[in-house]
Order: sequence, then C-alpha cells, then structure tokens
Amino acid sequence: MLNLFRRKKSRKVLVFGLDCAPPRVMFKTGAEGSLGLKDQLPNLSCLIDEGIYGPLSSSIPCITVPAWTSMLSSKDPGVLGFYGFRNRADHSYDRMTIATGNAIHEKRVWNILTEAGKESIVVGVPQTYPIKPIKGHLISSFLTPNVERQYTHPDELRYEIDRVLDGATYDVDVPQFRTDDKDFLLRQIQEMTEKRFAVIKYLLKEKPWDFFMFVEIGLDRIHHGMWKFWAQDHPKHEPGNPYENAIPDYYRYLDKELGEIMGMLDEDTVVLVVSDHGAKSMEGGFAVNEWLRREGLLVLKEEPEGEPPIPFDKVAVDWEKTTAWAAGGYYSRVFMNVEGREPQGKIPAQDYEKVRDELKERIEAIVDHEGKPMGSVAFKPEDLYREVRALRDGGAVAPDLMVYFGNLRWRALGTFGLPDIYSFENDLGPDDANHAQEGIFALWDPRQNHGGRYVEGLQLMDVAPTVLDLMGLDVPKDMQGKVIQR
Ligand SMILES: [Zn+2]
Repeated sequence: MLNLFRRKKSRKVLVFGLDCAPPRVMFKTGAEGSLGLKDQLPNLSCLIDEGIYGPLSSSIPCITVPAWTSMLSSKDPGVLGFYGFRNRADHSYDRMTIATGNAIHEKRVWNILTEAGKESIVVGVPQTYPIKPIKGHLISSFLTPNVERQYTHPDELRYEIDRVLDGATYDVDVPQFRTDDKDFLLRQIQEMTEKRFAVIKYLLKEKPWDFFMFVEIGLDRIHHGMWKFWAQDHPKHEPGNPYENAIPDYYRYLDKELGEIMGMLDEDTVVLVVSDHGAKSMEGGFAVNEWLRREGLLVLKEEPEGEPPIPFDKVAVDWEKTTAWAAGGYYSRVFMNVEGREPQGKIPAQDYEKVRDELKERIEAIVDHEGKPMGSVAFKPEDLYREVRALRDGGAVAPDLMVYFGNLRWRALGTFGLPDIYSFENDLGPDDANHAQEGIFALWDPRQNHGGRYVEGLQLMDVAPTVLDLMGLDVPKDMQGKVIQR
C-alpha cells in the first residue's frame, strides 16, 4: 500500500569517475575491439553484467576540461564558454587564460542538490578549484596550484585528510607526469591513488551523503605515460616489454578498490561508472603551425632560432601577412586573423566564412607521412553547440575551427623548428595516447538487475539529468541531455 502514496523514489547515487577510460577496456562489445581486460576486473564486470552500459560520447573537444563540467552541468562547451584548459582570453594575439572553476557559470549537479537540501561529497572532479562552498564536502582536483592553498570544503577537512594520510601530502595530481622515468611515474600514480582511496573510504564512512562522486585522474596519467607498452595497436608497441602489465595492474587495483567501496554501500545506492573521454594510440604529432607556414597562411618575420621545439610565443609573427595560426594539444584550435576583430586583422570581415570554409577544406585534405589521407576533421563551433556564448568572467573566445588530426590518431604540435611537419616524438615529453571521443557509462542498481543491457547513443550530458532523476529531483529545463532510461 505504501508504495501507492510514495512520490518519485529518491535514491542515493555514487559516481565512480575514471578519467580517460575507453570502452574497449571494460566492454566486450564496441567498435574498436576489446582489449580483453574485462574478465580480470570482477567488480566492474559485475556492474556491467547486471547493469546498463554503453559507450558515452564525449564533448567536442573530448578533453578533460570541458568534458567533466559538460557532463555534470548538462551543458555543451559553447554554452559553458570554454574549449579546453588553455583558451584565448580575448581577441588579442597573446592573452591566454586557464579555465578554472571560476570560468563556470552554470550549475553542476551538486549545486542543484545543495539547493534541494541534499548532501554531496565531491572528490577530484576537474574545475572545482578555487573552492566554492556546497552542502557537504569537497576536495578539489588537478589544476589546484598546491595544497597549501584551500583545496577542501570545508577548509577544516584538510586536517582530517592529514590525519587519514598520517601526515603525507594529498596529491591532486601526479607531481611529475611528463617524465621518462617510468618506474618513478608508476610509483607516483600508485601512491597518489592509494591516498585518494584512503580519503574516499574515510569520507564514505564518516560523512553524510546523498550524492558521492570522485574522479581518478591517475588513469588518464597512466594511459598517456604507458599506453604503448600495453596497446598492441600502438606503432611503438614491443611485445614482452617489461611494462606490459603496468596499465592492466592499475585497472586491477582500481577494480579492487571499487569492490571495497561497493561493500560499504547500502541497498539504496545506485552506482554509476563514467569516463569523460576514451583513449587511443597516438601515431604521431602534426606540426600545424609549420603547415600553416608552408601554405602561406602564417608568416614569420624571421626564421625561428634556438633549440627546437620552439614555442609559438618565442617566434616573431608578421601579423599583417598572417591569415591563421593554431594552438597545439590533443586537438588543435585554429584562429583566424580577422579585420576589425584581431588587432592587425588581415581577412576582410565579409570574407570570414569563405576563408574559413577554404581553410577547413585544406585541413581536411592533409595527408599523412605516407601520403595517405589523414582523415582529419575541422569543426565550426556553431555547428556543434546550442549557442557559442559571448565572453564571460574567466571564459574564453571560441576558436574559429577545432581540428581532430587523423580523427585524434595525431596530436597537434603548435611549435616550430622540428625537422618535419610529421613528428613521432611529442614536443611536450613522452606521451603515447591521445584522447578518443567515446568514454564509458555503466549504471548498476542493487535493487534491479538489468542483465547487462548494452545501450548506444549515450552522451556525456545525459549523466546529470540521470543522476537528478534517480535522486527524485526534477531535471532543469535548460539541461541539454536526457534521462537515461532504466
Ligand atoms: Zn580526461
């Protein structure tokens, strides 16, 4: 009888965020082929086999910032107003800005829960620094300058963390991620993650919560640093190398921690496992600014001097003769030099669309080092987003084009002076994975066995509405995602 009178059911939700986890690790189904680890991850396997799961399409760009915020606000990057970590701060040539928590003007799940009087615990979710109060507890993420600053809410939580870690420093990120010393890297990742789980389990036990979410950035770091040792489709993979098990070992460790956490949950808690994007083998780097130079679109006043790779801010650009320039990264942002918009704009404003279409066409026609089509895609922001927001506090100017070189099999190098436009060494240090568009989603409800239902077509922005719906709250009308049906 009681059920008839009950309003919408209100569940607790725990979100296990695995930065950079691709479907091919966890799932046996999927376009890119399984990496065959699922059977060695008993707890994740159980969630998948009894739950609902599928690939989770990331934002474009599929980069940690803006992806997690897009997921948790259910807004696309154009509405959020930032397009990566580093963005153009305005239409000048040199002002860049980092999209910290200050760039966020939309509500994320815990802000809505705070308004509804519910308790949240949030650990390691990107763009939570500087600290803003919520109802509950929060520990910030990487992009926190150092833990000498306030990195928790409430501030006193730091002393509890100190006690849990026996005085050891809590790591928001791997202290030195781009290193050639792989043993050192692995040790750092393992220590960081063990400390995080000690704190997570402490919070689970000691603090009240309706919503608990944490993100483990160590997985992203180990993918970038160790991918070629594991992934057989990486061009530099050597079977039988001493680090072949580094990534699988780390996944097995995460799975063990997940098992312990699941043992601490009650029957009322629904568990989600999500990632912000996937990972794939990186074939090489493409020197996009050198290519623009060859095409006559970017003109320097003199040949760059010094030890390559030479960063963009160390060369003298002849802006009056320059049509376009680019920023490197896992994807590339291409900027156009437009009359009346940039200080020394070259492209007449009325020709903007024509020039942009030509540029897009030329980029998409680029061939790889063997002369084969690279398969690059150049996106126009306004084709992707509901709106491309004008500049707000801490926000950014949208790029004119966003480019996935070789559909992300190639990284974009913004530097100068390398011997060739194709490079097989990253200009930022060792890194052999790129991001991939598809991440993962799994939902497990201890009260309902879904029998491992595989769902396609899920998108990052569906996560926030699904969480709110599970927790018995109405989904705000301006959220762009949909509630995932259970
Ligand atoms: Zn990420």
